[in-house]
Amino acid sequence: MTLDRRTLLQLSAMGAIAGSSMLSTAQAQTAAPAPAGKRKARWICLGTKGGPRVGLGRSNPANVLIVDDVPYVVDCGPGVSKRLVEAKVALPDVRYVFVTHLHSDHVLEYGNMVYGGWSAGLNHPVEAFAPIGMEALTKAYWESIKFDVDIRIADESKPDPRKLLVAKDIKDSGIVLDNGKVKVTAFKTPHPPITENFAYKFETPDGVFVYACDTSFNPALAKFAEGADVLIHETIYVPGVDKMVARVKNAATLKEHLIASHTTTEDVGKIAAMAKVKKLVMTHFVPGDDPTITDEMWAADAKKHYSGPIVVAKDLMEIEL
Ligand SMILES: [Zn+2]
Ligand SMILES: [Zn+2]
Repeated sequence: MTLDRRTLLQLSAMGAIAGSSMLSTAQAQTAAPAPAGKRKARWICLGTKGGPRVGLGRSNPANVLIVDDVPYVVDCGPGVSKRLVEAKVALPDVRYVFVTHLHSDHVLEYGNMVYGGWSAGLNHPVEAFAPIGMEALTKAYWESIKFDVDIRIADESKPDPRKLLVAKDIKDSGIVLDNGKVKVTAFKTPHPPITENFAYKFETPDGVFVYACDTSFNPALAKFAEGADVLIHETIYVPGVDKMVARVKNAATLKEHLIASHTTTEDVGKIAAMAKVKKLVMTHFVPGDDPTITDEMWAADAKKHYSGPIVVAKDLMEIEL
């Protein structure tokens, strides 16, 4: 029997494929075309693997929150454009972008994603929020693609995308956006050696999503996320790290970095329990490309501390409130 990719993803998300039974208890489902009428705010995990290495399987970090048909892209790892299209989000519809920090796995496709929207008809401003460095990165991106952009503006009568994309450096924790529909609050959290790194809280008319990715174990995040409907949190599976480091070339200090700067599967459960969130979504898996680590293995240690529903995220999985 031959199954197309979407069918496989749907089966996987329903727990119909061995190793994904965790999902059936977590009310998770894959992205599907939006039916007519208003839908509740929803979060789609676009890419769920931590790190910048590109491979088959999970894509690199990227998400989209959709509120009243407006997409808020959260992290822009390699593959974000393709995953948005697969999730039925038109690139020119993207209105807001949030990046947690400037590690490449979170920002490498930011410029190209906005470019993709522009090439497909973007005609409204896009606001992009990230720690200090985002404004300079945006300027450098347009410099890198200046040849093409200048030609197309003249040749195809397109608006100047450099004026449409408004990058905003976030310096401190606090509210960064309140458009009357969604309020977004940034919260600085350590990700050694990086200090300019934010978790985000999205308060929508339907409920609250908190996204913490990347971060070392930080109990202060529990306070920030207190009572959220959904906590989307990164995680690292320590027994899998040694195997991964052995596979990757030039990775002498990689393990050290990973352990210091991320949150173990057990500590994610502690944060979710302390925060009393209604649902925990584990994502940004490190290692995210080891098929021997099952959903049950990802969730087992978190379950020791958190008794609510746990979703082991997969690409294109949709998280409803
Ligand atoms: Zn990362
Ligand atoms: Zn990082």
